[in-house]
Amino acid sequence: MSDLLDKLNPAQKKAVLHPGGPALVLAGAGSGKNRVLTTRAAYLLEQNLATPEEILLVTFTNKAAHEMNQRLIKQTGARLPMSGTFHSLCAKILRRHAPLVGLDHNYLIYDTDEQLALIKQIYKSHSLNSTEFKPKAVLAMISNAKNEMLGVAEYQNLATGRFQEMVARVYKIYQHQLLENKAVDFDDLLLLVNKLFAENKAVLAFYQNQIKHVLIDEYQDSNKAQYLLGKYFAKPDDNIFAVGDFSQSIYAWRGADYRNMFLLKKDFPALVEYKLEENYRSSQNILNVATQVISQNNSHPILKLWTKKAQADKIKVLAGQDGRDEAEQIIREVKNNYHYADVAILYRTNAQSRPFEEACIKYGLPYQLVGGFKFYERKEIKDLLAFLKLITNPQDSVSQERVVKLGKRRYSDFEALRDTIRAEKEELSPLTLLEKILEATHYKDRFDDKDPEDVSHLENIAELLNVASEFAHSAQFLENVALIQDQEMVDAAGNLKNNLDRITLMSLHSAKGLEFPVVFIAGLEEGLLPHARSLLDKAQLEEERRLAYVGITRAQDKLYLSYALKRYFYGNSTFSTPSRFLADIDPKLLSATTAPKVQLKAKKRLVVDDDELDSVLSGELDIEEFLNF
Ligand code: ATP
Ligand code: MG
Repeated sequence: MSDLLDKLNPAQKKAVLHPGGPALVLAGAGSGKNRVLTTRAAYLLEQNLATPEEILLVTFTNKAAHEMNQRLIKQTGARLPMSGTFHSLCAKILRRHAPLVGLDHNYLIYDTDEQLALIKQIYKSHSLNSTEFKPKAVLAMISNAKNEMLGVAEYQNLATGRFQEMVARVYKIYQHQLLENKAVDFDDLLLLVNKLFAENKAVLAFYQNQIKHVLIDEYQDSNKAQYLLGKYFAKPDDNIFAVGDFSQSIYAWRGADYRNMFLLKKDFPALVEYKLEENYRSSQNILNVATQVISQNNSHPILKLWTKKAQADKIKVLAGQDGRDEAEQIIREVKNNYHYADVAILYRTNAQSRPFEEACIKYGLPYQLVGGFKFYERKEIKDLLAFLKLITNPQDSVSQERVVKLGKRRYSDFEALRDTIRAEKEELSPLTLLEKILEATHYKDRFDDKDPEDVSHLENIAELLNVASEFAHSAQFLENVALIQDQEMVDAAGNLKNNLDRITLMSLHSAKGLEFPVVFIAGLEEGLLPHARSLLDKAQLEEERRLAYVGITRAQDKLYLSYALKRYFYGNSTFSTPSRFLADIDPKLLSATTAPKVQLKAKKRLVVDDDELDSVLSGELDIEEFLNF
């Protein structure tokens, strides 16, 4: 154990050795929050303060949980069976107790596409007008309601105005239809486990007895449903150990609320706070830029950061003539100077990946795309999974609709297959079922194995069979597929994960928690970053700023900021204005090939100091008062 502690600085060590009870580690980017979390788990195990089953480790992606477990196995030989995202942990719990919340054991988890397809079915069957209130907007509101823990009845009571009344109406039918289809959506996973705990004291007691320590990463991005789950798990000993950074809260649009870090203090008055300030990731220049950008925010505390690392290079600013030129400049810079695996190119929206992909192809650079272009979103994969879902769960109207569209003949062949295997379907593995489906429906006949594009579809199918072969039960396999997230690595050929020498292209949101020696942030323009939707709203603008902060603080040694002078939107070109975030940076820190013509005036700066933060956390200063001043 002492080996592990030796790798920590005194502030980190103090946090790891926290004696028990509620704790919050508040710390800026790259200060070792993840290192503290992993070492805390190792410490609890080595000191026999907990067994692996007694620790609940909540991370922001399943990949992060996997990586932390790998480290733990190396350090202690143990892995934590209860580790993963809130969603995956809830899916695991719900599978065991499904009937208690009125669910079938074989319930399916709908992804965003399936949710939207169901909403559209509802619009159709109830003759609702989709021009006035778009199905997508209604779905987003339903999701918000669920993350706020508002069930159908509660939402109905609160709904005012035509839009909300429409949402309330659709919400009710949607929940009913999900139940009929024996399906849940992502948000239901959290809501239903909360319900399970609220209504079944014995089940709650079981988990509260089992779990002795709760460790939570990225706490600033918890929503209400997650906050409540954390509280449930922490009782009766109140051993909740959360880490977070206000400045990295970037999921408000999914219901996340950094104020949960203040709430924790209210709900657990014994809360002990730890602060880490030394940054081990980035050069001082990079930290200065990050601080200058984020310190324009004034609705949350800004944590100080410093490093012993050398000053290093200035931050480079690149200006492209247009989006394509911007991408090509960046790709040439990478090609001439760096190991590809060291490089990440980050952007605000997934659609921005296209010019980079094209430039990579033009200059012959290998790349991997994270999110956006997902294996499980390909048509052939969705089709085959729809068949499989329909065998597991004949009530699934969304899969039914998809499969019917593949042709009458194919569908009747499929129905014949389903009838023949009815009795034995529970015993058949997902691989066997998929093979039988392929055979019965002649699905592969759609593709010509001499056409390169078709070959890639056939390869995807082969890959799906590969993944399926790892599972004994279809329900288990489908659950795993549903929980695969945006952040999971998928390369251009659709292969999951790889460690080859490739550049990484991904959105700023997906970059959370990661680090790279060389980082490019592209598209620093008004309307892109900050995003057009946020320009008129202070809270949203602050969120965009946090997003920029997250991006900047991913960089270890080199940081590039780029923008284009012109962009094409739907075939028309428009002149763009460099992002206001560039104007917040002291020009002395920048070296520009073309000086950014930024005219926007820098606004008042406000850094919240430690004393102020302490007075909020200790309750001396009212949270609302603090947030409003
Ligand atoms: P983020 O806020 O971006 O999630 P974080 O606070 O979780 O960052 P980590 O990812 O744990 O930070 O650590 C950042 C980097 O600093 C990692 O490369 C980690 O190995 C390194 N690091 C952390 N603590 C130390 C230490 N005491 N000595 C040396 N390196 C350290
Ligand atoms: Mg982290």
